[in-house]
Amino acid sequence: MEVKTSLLDNMIGVGDMVLLEPLTEDSFIENLRNRFDHNEIYTYIGSVVISMNPYRSLPIFTPEKVEEYRNRNFYELSPHIYALADEAYRSLRDQDKDQCILITGESGAGKTEASKLVMSYVAAVCGKGQEVNKVKEQLLQSNPVLEAFGNAKTVRNDNSSRFGKYMDIEFDFKGDPVGGVISNYLLEKSRVVKQPRGERNFHIFYQLLSGASDDTLRKLKLDRDFSKYNYLSLDSANVNGLDDAANFRTVRNAMQIVGFMEDEVQSVLELVAAVLKLGNIEFKPESRSNGYDESRVKDKNGEDLKEMCELLGIEQSVLERAFSYRTVEAKLEKVSTTLNVSQAYYARDALAKNLYSRLFSWLVTRINESIKAQSKTRHKVMGVLDIYGFEIFEDNSFEQFIINYCNEKLQQIFIELTLREEQEEYIREDIEWTNIEYFNNAVICDLIENNQNGILAMLDEECLRPGTVTDITFLDKLNTVCAEHQHFESRLSKNSKFLTDHSLPHSCFRIQHYAGKVLYRVEGFMDKNNDLLYRDLSQAMYKANHKLIKQLFPEGNPAKVNLKRPPTAGFQFKHSVGTLMRNLQTKNPNYIRCVKPNDKKAPRIFTDSLVRHQVAYLGLMENVRVRRAGYAYRQAYEPCLERYKMLCKQTWPHWKGPTREGVEVLMADLQVSTEEFAYGNSKIFIRNPRTLFSLEEKRRGC
Ligand code: ATP
Ligand code: MG
Repeated sequence: MEVKTSLLDNMIGVGDMVLLEPLTEDSFIENLRNRFDHNEIYTYIGSVVISMNPYRSLPIFTPEKVEEYRNRNFYELSPHIYALADEAYRSLRDQDKDQCILITGESGAGKTEASKLVMSYVAAVCGKGQEVNKVKEQLLQSNPVLEAFGNAKTVRNDNSSRFGKYMDIEFDFKGDPVGGVISNYLLEKSRVVKQPRGERNFHIFYQLLSGASDDTLRKLKLDRDFSKYNYLSLDSANVNGLDDAANFRTVRNAMQIVGFMEDEVQSVLELVAAVLKLGNIEFKPESRSNGYDESRVKDKNGEDLKEMCELLGIEQSVLERAFSYRTVEAKLEKVSTTLNVSQAYYARDALAKNLYSRLFSWLVTRINESIKAQSKTRHKVMGVLDIYGFEIFEDNSFEQFIINYCNEKLQQIFIELTLREEQEEYIREDIEWTNIEYFNNAVICDLIENNQNGILAMLDEECLRPGTVTDITFLDKLNTVCAEHQHFESRLSKNSKFLTDHSLPHSCFRIQHYAGKVLYRVEGFMDKNNDLLYRDLSQAMYKANHKLIKQLFPEGNPAKVNLKRPPTAGFQFKHSVGTLMRNLQTKNPNYIRCVKPNDKKAPRIFTDSLVRHQVAYLGLMENVRVRRAGYAYRQAYEPCLERYKMLCKQTWPHWKGPTREGVEVLMADLQVSTEEFAYGNSKIFIRNPRTLFSLEEKRRGC
């Protein structure tokens, strides 16, 4: 078999889009297709890796491949995610530069798989030894646990992450991993109580029912039959290629490796079972003398309620009451109001969503406790971000709004760290350079997050406003405020990203995101942002004779009645995204842009229009243009001379003078056109990667 050793040998299309001639969207896509057809799923834009999902297992992730890419320079071998992982790891280990790996792309494009490939590559090339191996194992095994509880089968992806994840892996001075910290972002908790057609609830529910022993299920008062549970949709309960029972064993094993105690695992499973039981509780109206209907648990569900309460150590009458009445506190007075049937269902679902999402956050905290680095000395850090990509559906709701806001912030980071940093480096190095224009999406971020009149602030304001507030009053406010601004400010003002036109359907607003126009329907915005749980329910949970559940509902502690409302979902998200951005800004970014070749989850199919759409909104063409406008590559004088000195008699075997002069002599001797280079203060800048490749070629010929 032919062994490809450099990009020049790689005859399948062009390995680096920077070299593509002519550069058009068509040629860009054709190049991706050509390479994809030949199993070349990775292509570079300079140091950015484009990754196409092959939807089948390719023999390119073997231990031999790891060895091949280990300690090799980025452009020596054909494009691979391992090259990026290696570069990032070496720069962290040898140059003490903290790194972050930013993985973006739409659902099913391969982000999670890419993040695992990076993690496993780093685990394979860094130090070994009993302690280090234990840390590695724990870090890697946190994945199956979080995937079981946070991933689900969706129409787009059989293993779709329904939460955002950022993981800092910490290394000691030698470059051996010593621990990590995981942050999670906004779990899609609505899935717990309802799934779109053709989709499933979170994996763990099916895994538990399929894989647990009879004994475990008996203790949890569960039945193996999925159809017994209202919260589990049936139309796609069994997924081809997913072995829930085997995965349950993997998850149990992973929990053990990560360090969960047996009683903790038991508690977690009790909560999962309790959610299923909760979903089965139904309500009926009971007429009261005052003419109102009051909700009661249906007789046939008495057993479900009883079993749920037994699992969680809750007094049945307390929970039952909380489904019929609600205490409202008005001016230091407590008033009990009745719940009608639909309010009781609302309360039940709110409880299930809260229970599950708090359990998920607890799992993350618990994993963090286990994987925390023991020593307090400063560590070198590699962050890996696997977060939901931009979403433009037909029906976009609060979740898409939040997700797209997050993507705007990531685009900001890209602009800040890549484009701005690029220009600043030219200035630092005294290289002549003409500024190039790029679209700065800061205006869109501001439209959403501005503390005074940003959309999130207006939503919060409306949620807190007394009186009758609805999604529509929120929309009216948005329209009024944004339209006013639009009227007074210039066309380029931030609010021109808030699109008002007469074609807008009822109860919708539209935003011009950097990745395209998105229409949002406001229904549910207020409710999802409020994320309220009736206090009677949190108090019932707090009273539970169950350590974990008590811990999850601290606000139910009557001694700590805090009349202040908990922060809204939007506020919390904005806050955590802000923290994430500040963290990323301190690190050197590495980008993996994942692209989905088709929407059939099938191998070997490349759907042109689908890829074109992703290329556009990932901003890949803009990325190539920026790269081509300047110098594609740069290298400090010292390693450059070291690497190529054998190509010139004057520099081989030793160059006695300053390294910069050595490099100048070398380049002159090789007769490389002077336009190809610029000499900076500490680095040589190379315009065209082809030049670099030809140096590599010559070097190999020596
Ligand atoms: P989401 O946003 O929904 O979480 P994602 O971008 O994380 O999506 P993944 O779960 O990583 O997508 O990938 C979807 C599926 O595609 C995987 O379950 C796997 O079947 C396949 N896949 C992705 N990357 C690869 C790869 N490198 N090799 C083989 N199959 C892959
Ligand atoms: Mg994923």
